[in-house]
Amino acid sequence: MNTEQKLSVLADSGKYDLACSCKYDYEPGRVRGDAGKWIYPSALPGGRKMHLLKTLLSNECVNDCTYCPFNCVSNTQRCTLEPEELAAMFSRLKSARMVDGLFASSGVCGSTEKTMAKIIAVAEILRKKQHFRGFIHLKIVPGASDEAVRQAVMLASRVSVNIEAPSPERLAKLSRRKDFHNDIIRTMKKINEYKQLKKGSKGQTTQFVVGAAGESDREIVIATHRLYNGYDMERVYYSAFQNTASDEPAGDEGFVREHRLYQVDYLLRKYKFDKNDILFDSDGRLDLNRDPKQVWADSHPEFFPVNINRAGRYELLRVPGIGPVGASRIISRRRNGRITDASELAAMRVRHRLAGSYIVF
Ligand code: SF4
Repeated sequence: MNTEQKLSVLADSGKYDLACSCKYDYEPGRVRGDAGKWIYPSALPGGRKMHLLKTLLSNECVNDCTYCPFNCVSNTQRCTLEPEELAAMFSRLKSARMVDGLFASSGVCGSTEKTMAKIIAVAEILRKKQHFRGFIHLKIVPGASDEAVRQAVMLASRVSVNIEAPSPERLAKLSRRKDFHNDIIRTMKKINEYKQLKKGSKGQTTQFVVGAAGESDREIVIATHRLYNGYDMERVYYSAFQNTASDEPAGDEGFVREHRLYQVDYLLRKYKFDKNDILFDSDGRLDLNRDPKQVWADSHPEFFPVNINRAGRYELLRVPGIGPVGASRIISRRRNGRITDASELAAMRVRHRLAGSYIVF
């Protein structure tokens, strides 16, 4: 295989990993492929207009993660890029103005240390030989040595290690070889430690695979809250498990679940919701039919109606249909006099039909 053929296989393999800044305003976060499965954007030679080359260095892997199409028992086409090949290809794509950043990840090819050495070598070539100053996201292999983590943090704009599951027990259902505390949590702590040594360092990100370990939404939300508050996580991503071994088109329920988890994530990060404000059924599941903010509002009738002309930012953000932008615009608009009807709210990016049941003027 030549480099382009390898990149074609490996960039396609990288589509399952969301833990990077791969979404741009002019393109959807993902699209449905012919087999009914979701495809995440990535850049390929001669391909669509995109900005981030997102690829694995290798899809060979000694690990046994049950959810992963590249685990050691799967029957898939394998290939490996050498660091020089990937760096040269990135440079060509960059010169052609097809990409302006790199997301590099890899299966565990031989050993963790050898794999990390290759990932780091790509960034070293780009930074030190090609003097590339743009965005590089390096995925750290769980269980990497402290020195490998340090080098990755120093070279990359952003690093991440995927948590995959909310607890040691759940992770044990997905892999016999990954240790939740030693391989993942310890690595996250090391990333934070080394980030302190680097000026202007961006936060780390991580990703859950949703629905592969029998975990509940409550378990994921509690773990997410802990990541944001205890591990200085910048973003948590959620990726619905897709059974790539099955020819059946992926069902929608997992993706609706993923969508609800993203809504909860926003509530935790942007709306000052606490984990105790997120409501679940007796099995720890989110309501798939309603936005979690609306579920909270409908369970707290004593909080409503909120007076749109008197409420503070906290109260406004509790109203379904009012987001951070809408709340700011309402507060700013009130300086010029009372808001008197719903049509005014529409111009402030408020979903006024939804908000209407929860507000008065
Ligand atoms: S370590 Fe990564 S590439 Fe290997 S089986 Fe697990 S998820 Fe897949």
